[in-house]
Amino acid sequence: MLDEARRLAPRFAARAADSDRDGSFPERDFAELREAGFFGLMVPARLGGAGAGFTEYAEIAYELARGNGSTALVFNMHASVTGAIAGVTDELAELLGLPAEALEARDGFLKAAAGGAWYAVAMSERGAGSRLSELSTTYRRVDGGYRITGAKTFCSGAGHADAYLVAARGAADPAQVSQFLVPAGEGLRVEPTWDALGMRATGSHDLHVDVTVPAPALLGGVEGLALVAAQLAPHWMVASYAAVYVGVARAAVEAAVEHVNARGLGRLPAVRARIGRADAAVSAAHLVVREAARRVDRAPGDPETNRWVWRAKLLAGTTAADVAAAMLEAAGTSAMRRGHPLERLYRDARAGSLQPATSDVCADWLGVDALGGDPDADGVAPRW
Ligand SMILES: Cc1cc2nc3c(=O)[nH]c(=O)nc-3n(C[C@H](O)[C@H](O)[C@H](O)COP(=O)(O)OP(=O)(O)OC[C@H]3O[C@@H](n4cnc5c(N)ncnc54)[C@H](O)[C@@H]3O)c2cc1C
Repeated sequence: MLDEARRLAPRFAARAADSDRDGSFPERDFAELREAGFFGLMVPARLGGAGAGFTEYAEIAYELARGNGSTALVFNMHASVTGAIAGVTDELAELLGLPAEALEARDGFLKAAAGGAWYAVAMSERGAGSRLSELSTTYRRVDGGYRITGAKTFCSGAGHADAYLVAARGAADPAQVSQFLVPAGEGLRVEPTWDALGMRATGSHDLHVDVTVPAPALLGGVEGLALVAAQLAPHWMVASYAAVYVGVARAAVEAAVEHVNARGLGRLPAVRARIGRADAAVSAAHLVVREAARRVDRAPGDPETNRWVWRAKLLAGTTAADVAAAMLEAAGTSAMRRGHPLERLYRDARAGSLQPATSDVCADWLGVDALGGDPDADGVAPRW
C-alpha cells in the first residue's frame, strides 16, 4: 500500500490546485483511495483489512501528503477512527470491562471500512475547540439508544463521509464524555462554512446534529470513555497529523527545488543554504515522527512513547510552517502567484501548528513534563 500511495500522490498533486482554488472536495482522490483499499488500511486482516500498524500509517500519510495535504488530512481522520477502534483489542476490552456487544459493534464498523465505508471526525466545536471536557453537544439515553444534539465545526469531509465519529457529553452527567459512530443521513445537516486560508480542500464544514442512534453506536459500549482514551492512547488524537504535515513540508522543499532549478537560482548561496536547512529540518522532523510511530507500535500509551508523540506533533507543525515560509522566500515573488504549488503549500503548512494539540499546547505539555510535573493534569486549562 506504500507503493500504491506513492503511485497515487502525483495524481493527487496534479489535481490539488483546482480543489484548493474553489475549496471543492477532492472526490476523485477519495474514489481512488477507496478503489485501492485504503479505507481498510488500519482494519485487522481477520476482518478483511490490511492490518497496518501506526508506523505503516505514518509512512503512507507522509506519501499521500506529498501529493495533496488536504486529501491526506481527511484520510487521517478516517485512519484515526479505524485505528483507534482497531486498537481496542480483545485483551484491552477485557481489561476495561467492555461488554461483548461492543466488540461485535467494533468488528462491524471495521468490516464496513474494509468494504469501502469511510469515517469522519466531528469532535471540535465553536468555542470549545477540541476540548472534550467543554463540549456543548450532549446525549441522553432513550429507548434502545441515544439522542445526540448539538453543533460541530471543522468537520473534514463533512457531507462526503459515510459516518461520523461524534463526541458528546452526557446530559445527565456532563463529566461523561462519549463517542458515537453516527451514519450519514437524517439527523445530520452540513452547513458549508469552510472557506479557509489553508487546507481548503478538506471541506471542514459545520455539522448540525439532532439524531437518535441505536445503542451499538456508542463506541466501547460504555459511557465516558472518550477522555480515558485521549489520555491512554494520545497518538491518534495528538500525533496522527504529524506525518501529514511532514509530508507537506517535504512537498514544499521539492517544489522549491524544481522552481529554483528551473529559474537557475541555485547558484545563489543564500538560496542553496535555505534549501539545505529546510532539507535537514524536514528530515529531522520525519525521524522524530518515525520514532514516535515505532514506539506507538511497540508500547502504546507508555509515558516515554507519549513524550515522543507530543514531540512529533510539535516538530511537524512548526517545521512545516517554517520550512514552507523559507521555501517561498527562496523561490521569490513568482512563487506567490495563485496556482503555484508553493503558494498553496505555504498556506496548507500554516494549519499544522493550529491542529490539536497546537504547537503551544505541545510545548507546554513537554515543558511541564521536563520540569517534573504531570503534563496531562498540570496545564493552565484542561488538555482535552
Ligand atoms: C485543516 C483543519 C482540519 C480540521 N479537521 C477537523 C476534523 O475533521 N474534526 C474535528 O473535530 N476538528 C477538526 N479540526 C479542528 C481542530 O481539530 C481543533 O479542534 C481546532 O483547531 C481547535 O479549535 P480552535 O483552534 O478554534 O481553538 P482552541 O483549541 O481553543 O485554540 C485557541 C488558542 O488557545 C490555545 N490553547 C488551547 N488549549 C489550550 C490549553 N489546554 N492550554 C493552553 N493553551 C491552549 C491554543 O494553542 C490556541 O493558541 C480541524 C482543524 C483544521 C485547521
